[in-house]
Amino acid sequence: MSSPRICFLLPCYNEEHALPITIEKIKDKFQALIHQGFLSSNSAILFVDDGSKDKTWEILASQSQNEPFLLVIRLSKNSGHQNALLAGLTEAYVLGFEAVITMDADLQDDIDVLEDFIKKFSEGYDIVYGVRSDRTTDSFFKRETALVFYKLMRLFGVPLVYNHADYRLMSRRAIEALLSFPERNLFLRGLVPLLGFPSTEVFYKRQQRVAGETKYPLKKMIAFALNGITSFSIQPIRWVTITGFVVFSISFLILLYALVKKITGETVSGWTSLIFSLWFLGGLILVSLGIIGEYIGRIYVEVKQRPRFFVEKREGRLFREKPHV
Ligand code: UDP
Ligand code: MG
Repeated sequence: MSSPRICFLLPCYNEEHALPITIEKIKDKFQALIHQGFLSSNSAILFVDDGSKDKTWEILASQSQNEPFLLVIRLSKNSGHQNALLAGLTEAYVLGFEAVITMDADLQDDIDVLEDFIKKFSEGYDIVYGVRSDRTTDSFFKRETALVFYKLMRLFGVPLVYNHADYRLMSRRAIEALLSFPERNLFLRGLVPLLGFPSTEVFYKRQQRVAGETKYPLKKMIAFALNGITSFSIQPIRWVTITGFVVFSISFLILLYALVKKITGETVSGWTSLIFSLWFLGGLILVSLGIIGEYIGRIYVEVKQRPRFFVEKREGRLFREKPHV
């Protein structure tokens, strides 16, 4: 079997310090992989400059003059990591690559396991998730917040691969499926598991950033997590409804309690009706909000217009005569 034509995709935002090192290392790795027969020689490395404000674009543009396998694109403005990845995937798809491997431009995703990704692809897997087996190089804060993030996501029912970020391989047909998701609030690591197709994992040790600092400060991380929850789950709405019913039920217990107190004469006048109305109305309002929320939740799911299925295989004479893909 001939070696596959694969595109490495690296999004960059203000990475002028990391890029000179990254480009050298990824180039060496790329050429070694071609030499060892893992990659076909018309593979490529694609850098997406996500509207950087530093020298990132100058560095990328000048490098692409020297190397025929280096592709670079620049987005018109800073559109965010997820959109930068999507832009790169779209370009790579149009250029006809058989698969794309996405990774961070700071080389925190260990490039020494790239051959494992390619092996898995050759075995027939459409999606290969890079999973961090070790995060000791991350700061304590980053590790702990990441843990809370995964736990929260699970609680909210978002289908995440544990300890997987955006180091992943996707086959052409998986990318095609992904590109058919019309949503604006992109949360790739939640969407990719929704695609189905044969998938597997590759383990690696998370590396130190080669240079520069993180482009994901706490504020961006929180926005990212919120986006993940709100674009995958209507669970919070359900909680309002459930709380409403609980409070509403309690209000009747309170009514009983208040009446007993009144009969035994332990109350000031007016307390009975007040305390009951408080719980009754509170419950009623919550239930009403929940019901309205349930409808909004359904509108929200409909509005996304997500595709409902993807065909993985086709067999049969008619398909062979007139192939779909
Ligand atoms: N990145 C991007 N656009 C942004 C923020 C980040 O393209 O708005 C890129 C960044 O250059 C890097 C990758 O996304 O290649 C991951 O970001 P970073 O390494 O800063 O995140 P961390 O690893 O600290 O979570
Ligand atoms: Mg990083």
